[in-house]
Amino acid sequence: MKQVFYFSPHQDDEVTNFGAAICADIEQGHEVFCVLCTDGGASCARELLASQSVCAWHSGSHAIDLTREAFSAARDREFKASCLALGLKPENILISPLRAPDSGCSADAAQQIILDATDGFAPEQTVIKTIFPTPWQRQNPDHAAIAQAAGALFAKRRFAGLEYYYEMILLPAPDDVALQKIVPSPEGKKRLLLAADAYGLWEPEHGRYAVGYHSVYDEFQAYVREPCAWLVKTMI
Ligand SMILES: [Zn+2]
Ligand SMILES: [Zn+2]
Repeated sequence: MKQVFYFSPHQDDEVTNFGAAICADIEQGHEVFCVLCTDGGASCARELLASQSVCAWHSGSHAIDLTREAFSAARDREFKASCLALGLKPENILISPLRAPDSGCSADAAQQIILDATDGFAPEQTVIKTIFPTPWQRQNPDHAAIAQAAGALFAKRRFAGLEYYYEMILLPAPDDVALQKIVPSPEGKKRLLLAADAYGLWEPEHGRYAVGYHSVYDEFQAYVREPCAWLVKTMI
């Protein structure tokens, strides 16, 4: 048994980019942690929710004007519900006290987040996992920074292992990047669909505004058609 730490740049990456791998690691008996690295406050969904427009896929109009802090807290609720649905223990769902503002995570800040989360765990039994860096194509800057930080720390032998996952929305990968498709077990698939549902829950009275669906609806639609993850087999 080992500790596995997933570093999720934003609320939703843990399901759309790592979900199938998280379920598989839990099924294999590993102690799995998920660390949220930014506040998710820059999503376009915040403006949309305040726009007074009417939405096609849930009852209710958008008249929800949230401060950045309240919006971020709403996203955190979606993240925690998603992680619980994936099967993570509540105490292993971590929002980094050092988290960066959305779109403002530097590689240095990401290194501090990774070291802070894994502090006290035996390096030889600790594996870190995050999104694969793709400098040849446009990638979210937080994704790129955390990927770079994980690579730099692993190169210094700070951890027993590093695994990268290819971003779903950046597929297909170029020919020289070998991928292994992580297909969930039947039980895992149920968990993945429940986790995705956490991002579509519209219950304003409970502070749930389906922020995930409002920000990347098409991505979630594609994901729930075939929930899986893409492990990168090519080491860089
Ligand atoms: Zn992200
Ligand atoms: Zn809506």
